[in-house]
Amino acid sequence: MLDCAIIGGGPAGLTAGLYATRGGLQNVTMFEMGLPGGQITQSSEIENYPGFFEHDKTGMDFMDTWQKQCFHFGLKHEMKKVESVAKTGEYFTITLEGGEKVEAKTTIVCTGSVPKRAGFKGEDEFFGKGVSTCATCDGFFYKDKPVTVLGGGDTALEEALYLSNICSDVYVVHRRDEFRAAPPTLERIEKKENIHLITNSVIDEAYGDAMGLQGVRIKDKEGNITELKNTGLFVFVGHDVRNDVLQDENGEFICKMNDWGQVIVDLSMKTSLEGLFAAGDMRIEAPKQVVSAAGDGAVAALQVISYIQEQA
Ligand code: FAD
Ligand code: NAP
Repeated sequence: MLDCAIIGGGPAGLTAGLYATRGGLQNVTMFEMGLPGGQITQSSEIENYPGFFEHDKTGMDFMDTWQKQCFHFGLKHEMKKVESVAKTGEYFTITLEGGEKVEAKTTIVCTGSVPKRAGFKGEDEFFGKGVSTCATCDGFFYKDKPVTVLGGGDTALEEALYLSNICSDVYVVHRRDEFRAAPPTLERIEKKENIHLITNSVIDEAYGDAMGLQGVRIKDKEGNITELKNTGLFVFVGHDVRNDVLQDENGEFICKMNDWGQVIVDLSMKTSLEGLFAAGDMRIEAPKQVVSAAGDGAVAALQVISYIQEQA
């Protein structure tokens, strides 16, 4: 019987593992289907994590010491995909790929979320080299330079507002002439002089060379092409929250979720199901940053320790 099962080995899961083991729990296993580290390992650099300011280090380098630190304090790692989490009676049953089952007193779910891709030519090729899904992470690299934003939802328009305070011009490309975003957000966008709306248009191609993105070609409904050179491209066309482990055999969630599939937690990262915690990008109102995911993981682990003490 595990004291705690941690599902997902990104910044939230690793930090939960560090705090749980250093806090005295003997039997903590993190189930991570790939190498530990999470989404940030795809990034070529990170410069907004306090205390880490080395420009020649990638996201992979950055996360390397996290796992070493956790394993040093006794966290165990199983490189296995979790299929589902269920609570029957007092304990949790974690079902792994292949059918193996593991029992745990508590569970912290940290499976993250994945920004959707729009599917235009060059998107994958230049992802992380000029094409980004995170304005907070990469906006500063375009200080006083023009950027293009794709999408017409709340995320796209809110991130366009954020970028408009850093960048010289923000070109928002949206495939329709009506926006899905809340009307007050659109009003704020329309008042910003350096935000330019390009509607009824899509990104036809992002192009560049070995150094990265150089520009984008935008196509309108009539097929006319406009070229924006020397721009960063931010894609905000929705997120897929990785919440499938929390679904039972009938497709019902085992804890309360919001309309967008994010786990509802309180400030202690407690879900609506006793003993189940959620941390990082998959929870409601997540800032989707390494520092906040790590903070969530620490909070959840401290709560797990208290919970186990109360149950004993
Ligand atoms: P994740 O990092 O998504 O980790 C979740 C982990 O769970 C993954 O490793 C996944 O393999 C695992 N998992 C999922 N499902 C299962 C399952 N069923 N079984 C087992 N394992 C599973 N943030 C910043 O603060 N600064 C930046 O500069 C920055 N740059 C970024 C650049 C890129 C290219 C990307 C993609 C993101 C960037 N971010 C940045 C965001 C940051 O990476 C995330 O906010 C953070 O990683 C979220 O951590 P997490 O632990 O919640 O989830
Ligand atoms: P979203 O609402 O699904 O919007 C995605 C946007 O991307 C839409 O405008 C969509 O166009 C466009 N799009 C989708 N696929 C595309 C493609 N392949 N090519 C080009 N454009 C594409 O996603 P979101 O903005 O991330 O928001 C997700 C949820 O979170 C929403 O319910 C939103 O209200 C909520 N949210 C709320 C707040 C807030 O309340 N402050 C902030 C952020 C997000 P169409 O409009 O034509 O479909």
